[in-house]
Amino acid sequence: MAISVPTSVSKESFLFNSKNSLKNNTQVVQIYGSQLKPVKFEDSHFKHLGLIKRNQGYLRLEASRDSVSSTRVAPVKEMEKKPNDQTLDLFNDMREKFLSFKRFKYLEKSDHYQKLVNGQAPKFMVIACADSRVCPTSILGFEPGEAFVVRNVANLVPPFENGPTETNAALEFAVNALKVENLFVVGHSCCGGIRALMSMQDGVHSSIFIKDWVINGKQARTSTMAVAANLGFEQQCRHCEKESVNHSLVNLLSYPWVEERVRNGLLSIHGGYYDFVNCTFEKWTLDYKGNSAEEDGKYAVKDRVFWS
Ligand SMILES: [Zn+2]
Repeated sequence: MAISVPTSVSKESFLFNSKNSLKNNTQVVQIYGSQLKPVKFEDSHFKHLGLIKRNQGYLRLEASRDSVSSTRVAPVKEMEKKPNDQTLDLFNDMREKFLSFKRFKYLEKSDHYQKLVNGQAPKFMVIACADSRVCPTSILGFEPGEAFVVRNVANLVPPFENGPTETNAALEFAVNALKVENLFVVGHSCCGGIRALMSMQDGVHSSIFIKDWVINGKQARTSTMAVAANLGFEQQCRHCEKESVNHSLVNLLSYPWVEERVRNGLLSIHGGYYDFVNCTFEKWTLDYKGNSAEEDGKYAVKDRVFWS
């Protein structure tokens, strides 16, 4: 059965009844293009055009067929609101932001973005927390092409001997293929991952996946408890948030290809801490020349700065 889309609906969005249709994935649907010539689509093709929403016999399709430079937003408010339409609103907001980015950044710096078509040569690899409040590109101003970023729970770098993870896969690519000049591990205040790490010893429940991941920071927890056992839990967490960054810096040196480039002066390792409660940022650099390890496995730091 073919369905004809009313020609009066806008290009950006249309709604049509499909009570007796779409009984299987091969249902043929007829959509009019800009010349009002019928174009046939199979149902399975819709997912490539936009968002499909089946609800009470209705199928709504958001198809972004307008000009890429347009900032008009689909008139979803004119439609009958469904319980999950808030998701549509979120994507409409996102669409506006994307088109604003395109108009005011991408197109205005088109030369820069065209160079990125040929490849990337970032000077930084940033390892930051997945926390939505601490996006490194937002707070540190990295432009596309300037930082290779991997984010994980609690911004941890597992030691080499712990085996493969997506974090050290990204590390390997950044160091050996992109040949970044700086590795930058950025911790932050109020980190839920560090809280999970510090809570584990108290028998507080945590997800098995999170537990298995944050245990990579167990040395930071141990060293925190060695110096902060008499402090309250919140203070212990604040201490461990920075301590875990330092342990990750040391863990970076456990990768032979990282250590070699650092020793040869081709790569620097930096730590950072973003306090989003007070909006301050602290940065320091590992002082490693190949044989400066102290007995406790720690390394001296240099170039510590505090931005407030
Ligand atoms: Zn975090």
